Amino acid sequence: MGKCSACPRLVQWCKDVAITKRKAYESEEYWGKPVSGFGPADASILIVGLAPGAHGANRTGRVFTGDRSGDWLFGSLHRNGLAKLASSTSLHDGQELLGVRITCAVHCAPPDNKPSTEEKATCSPWLLKEISLLLPTLKSFVALGKFAWDGLIDSLKAMDFQVPTPKPKFGHGSQCEVIGPDGVQRLLIGSYHPSQQNTFTGKLTEAQLDQVFELASAYK
Ligand code: SF4
Repeated sequence: MGKCSACPRLVQWCKDVAITKRKAYESEEYWGKPVSGFGPADASILIVGLAPGAHGANRTGRVFTGDRSGDWLFGSLHRNGLAKLASSTSLHDGQELLGVRITCAVHCAPPDNKPSTEEKATCSPWLLKEISLLLPTLKSFVALGKFAWDGLIDSLKAMDFQVPTPKPKFGHGSQCEVIGPDGVQRLLIGSYHPSQQNTFTGKLTEAQLDQVFELASAYK
């Protein structure tokens, strides 16, 4: 995936950000490329976010690593016994995920965090591939934010998962069961994205995020 160049606008944006940088990180070498999923290949929980952050994952090369959203996410995973460390700062920080994998619906950082409809569609085969590789052990999905919820449901339908109709509405704590092409029932949970917009305003609290991962871990 690191060499994927199917979305010229996003590929260029990632490179441009890696050159201009944010002042706080001007001494660092940015990753500036597509960011793949992180976590064991036999995970039972798959967390899906929107896309790499321009100065987070696009800088460090690992999803949700090096920004405030990641601090919240990894903090919650750690409290739930799903991450070795309570923070994720760089590719070489020793972080390990335990039974959980994190990925994105779009793998290159988009301007204004807004990939186009075409870019979302172009990147979706990567998510389909990741889900299909995880199927033997996968028990639950967590979608961080409405975009990830919609993208994940579209991907599951494309893989012939049975998804309830009408389409389940996104909200924090929304959940439904989906049946895979292998006949196995799995849980899909929605969570507000741990962006600063949600965490600074109190829309998403640590306890609320922790509850999502408690639920995902408990589903067998
Ligand atoms: S967003 Fe996805 S499909 Fe587009 S260039 Fe990046 S990795 Fe490739």
